[in-house]
Amino acid sequence: MPNIPVIKVGDILEMKKNHPCGSKIFTVSRIGSDIKLTCTGCGRTLMLDRIKVEKMIKKIISNGDNHE
Ligand SMILES: [Zn+2]
Repeated sequence: MPNIPVIKVGDILEMKKNHPCGSKIFTVSRIGSDIKLTCTGCGRTLMLDRIKVEKMIKKIISNGDNHE
């Protein structure tokens, strides 16, 4: 098992750092060379590079394309 979290569109992530609005929960809206995250607290989007996002993740709360 790799230690690096696999991020997919639709995933809900809990971050180590709060967004300024106080929420720590973000939804992955787009993945390219950068990852676009939507804050579930205030609805703002942010673009971060993948390495940064991987380091910021505390845990993946829900997998977007996990059909369990
Ligand atoms: Zn926010």
